[in-house]
Formats: sequence, structure tokens, C-alpha cells
Amino acid sequence: MNDRAPQPVERQLPTEESRDLLALVREIAQREIRPRAAEEEDAGRFPREVFALLSESGLLGLPYDGEFGGGEQPYEVYLQVLEELAAARLTVGLGVSVHSLACHGLAGYGTKEQQSAHLPAMLGGGLLGAYCLSEPAAGSDAASLRTKAVRDGDGWVITGTKAWITHGGVADFYTVLARTGVEGPKGITAFLVPGDAEGLTAAVPEKKMGLKGSPTAQLHFDGVRVPDSRRIGEEGQGFTIALAALDAGRLGIAACAIGVAQAALDEALAYALDRKQFGHPIADFQGLRFMLADMATKIEAGRALYLAAARLRDAGKPFSRQAAMAKLFCTDAAMAVTTDAVQVLGGYGYTADFPVERLMREAKVLQIVEGTNQIQRMVIARHLAGPESR
Ligand SMILES: Cc1cc2nc3c(=O)[nH]c(=O)nc-3n(C[C@H](O)[C@H](O)[C@H](O)COP(=O)(O)OP(=O)(O)OC[C@H]3O[C@@H](n4cnc5c(N)ncnc54)[C@H](O)[C@@H]3O)c2cc1C
Repeated sequence: MNDRAPQPVERQLPTEESRDLLALVREIAQREIRPRAAEEEDAGRFPREVFALLSESGLLGLPYDGEFGGGEQPYEVYLQVLEELAAARLTVGLGVSVHSLACHGLAGYGTKEQQSAHLPAMLGGGLLGAYCLSEPAAGSDAASLRTKAVRDGDGWVITGTKAWITHGGVADFYTVLARTGVEGPKGITAFLVPGDAEGLTAAVPEKKMGLKGSPTAQLHFDGVRVPDSRRIGEEGQGFTIALAALDAGRLGIAACAIGVAQAALDEALAYALDRKQFGHPIADFQGLRFMLADMATKIEAGRALYLAAARLRDAGKPFSRQAAMAKLFCTDAAMAVTTDAVQVLGGYGYTADFPVERLMREAKVLQIVEGTNQIQRMVIARHLAGPESR
């Protein structure tokens, strides 16, 4: 097993402050996250205390306004932080991305009263969030969701089942999309539900191929009452809120994918320089050198693509098509790079003694979450063909 800390990635960062921030994140990642990743992923242990540390260090609200406790960092900086965290352990990088997704609705569409009541604790007060869109029968076709919220006096009663919820059962708050009106996207409303709400229960977490430290669970809403003050945005605006969060969230997944791929390349390179066959380090053989060169090129291309999309977002320009492209390209690159990393390590790559087999299993989920890569291609094609097309 290679315990050598990988060389820092050469990054383009806009300010001295952002360079210091990345240095802090690398230090936390190397000291608190990376050394425990293999053992805890194997045991399926969720590192709640790491999220408490990240919150204390101001790393759970980075891309949000300072008014309510956010870090006021541009997306190009926030995403590179996610990349570093995911390179150390995907459960943490993806967890921060999902938490940020769960804050997106309230930060973007909540009233000032709602924001001042809830955002400080969400962005830096130690709370952890989850985002509840998917259901057992509504995955890619999320607008067909059936969880209902029915008006009752000055509040709402939510009933139904959400599926595949990252942090399901361990989150302190849930951003929940529920049907309050007609079928389809126009009948959906967003709510902020506390984790300890009466009638809210989590099932036993799914047994997954990888990402085992990150709990993914069904959530049952059995007549969960929330006051109207916990409705985010207008009635019927929920799907717009959900999709806006996903545009930003997809960039988070892209950055996490590049982190996983970078970690795999670092491992493969270190191994190839060390391992000798036929009297030479295997890194001397052109067959492997070309493979390593292709892996590194995919990573640089993916990083450039997600940063280009992030910079559009930071400039206030539309970035939805580029976010879908970044999610598609970076997660496919992560799958290819991690698979090649296993190949570079030969038989040892196929064992749990080295992290590359875990990274390969983790890369797979990134092609599925926050819109599968087939759905990303649909989004990109719709942008190309125009809004009237299917
Ligand atoms: C580990 C994990 C964590 C997750 N975390 C969350 C979370 O925190 N919150 C949340 O809301 N959801 C979460 N999800 C759910 C995730 O977003 C869905 O799994 C994903 O959207 C796909 O939905 P599905 O699994 O129902 O697949 P389906 O929609 O049933 O798709 C099955 C297959 O059909 C393909 N397909 C479907 N429709 C089309 C089409 N029109 N054209 C071409 N191909 C199509 C898909 O690409 C896929 O390959 C998570 C999932 C996983 C595995």
C-alpha cells in the first residue's frame, strides 16, 4: 500500500485567500480524512465527526453569501475544494456536495426571514443536510414523483416515500420535493423538513457496491407536519428549485469524479515507478507510459471542463449545458481512469490491499447520481436542438 502523500495538483486559483483555503483543505484531507478512508469504507462507517470539523472550519457553506454564514467563495474555488476532499475520500467530497445541494433551495428561493432563521445553522452551525427528490418509482423521470404534501390549517402534511437519499437517517434537515398540485413538474413544491420531525423514519441503508461509508436510505414520511414557514418558494415552484440545485450539484459531482480519478492516477504512477518486471520499473514500458499519459490527459481535460462551467456560473451566465457536459465527461473519465489504474497495478490492483479497486467501485456511482449520464446526454441534446425538442 502506498502511504506517500500525493504531489499537490497545480491549480489555477483566483486569489491568495483561495490558495490558502486549498492548502488548509489539503492539510485536513491528508491528516483527518485520507488515512482512515480504506478501513472506514470497508466497515461502512459514516464519518460524522469529519463533517463537524468541516463545518467548524467554514467548509460546509463555501459557495454561499456571507450574510448568513456562507464562505462567499466562487464556484471555481468551491469545486476545487470538493475535488481535494473527494480525492481523499468520496464519502466526504460527495457528502459536502449533497449538503450544499440541500442548502441551495433555501439560499436561492427562501424569504429573508426563512434564511435568517435557518441558514446560519445550515451553512456553518454544524448541521448536515440531505436532498430528497428521487422515489422508488420516480428516478430519471423525477417530475412523476408521488410524495404528497396536503394543506392542513396553517401548515402541510407530507406523506410518501423518498428513495436513495444520501445522508438518509443521519441528516439534520431534508430539502423535500412533494406534490401539492397537478401531475407533472408544475404541481411540485419544496419544503425544509427537520431531521427529527414526527412521522419521519429512515429505512436500513442500502447495501452498495461502493461508497459504503455514505448512508443511502429510503425515507418514509408518514403524515409529517410542517408549518407553512417551511415551504421554500411558491407553491408549484418546487421542480424549478430542484433543477436549479441539480445544475449546481452536477458540477459538484464532476469535481468529485476528477478527485477520484486523480487519486487513482497518483496510486498508479507511484506503483508503476516502484514495481519492477523484466529488470525495469514497469513505468519504463511504453505500453504503461501511454496508459498513464492518457489517464492524466483525461483528468486535465475534465478539470478544465468543470472549471469552464464554474466560471460561467461565477460570471452570472447560463451554465446548465456545460454543467451537464462536465458531469458526463468527468464521471466517464473517472470510470475509465480508475479501471486503467487497476490494470496498472496488475493482480495487486484487484485486491483490497490497494485503494484502486475501491476507487473503481466509487467511480461507478458517479455515472448514476444526480441524473444518469444518459440523462445528461438528453439535457445536452435538448440544448443543442432547442427547447421545443424532446
Ligand atoms: C448512492 C446513491 C446516492 C443517491 N443520492 C440521492 C440523493 O441524495 N437524493 C436523491 O434525490 N436521489 C439520490 N440518488 C438517486 C439517483 O439520482 C437516481 O438513482 C438516478 O436519478 C437514476 O434513477 P433510477 O435509479 O430510478 O434509475 P432509472 O430512472 O430507473 O433508470 C434506469 C436506467 O434507464 C436509463 N434511462 C431512464 N430514462 C431514460 C431515457 N429517457 N433515455 C435513456 N435512458 C434512460 C437510465 O440512464 C438508467 O441507465 C442516489 C442514487 C445512488 C445510487
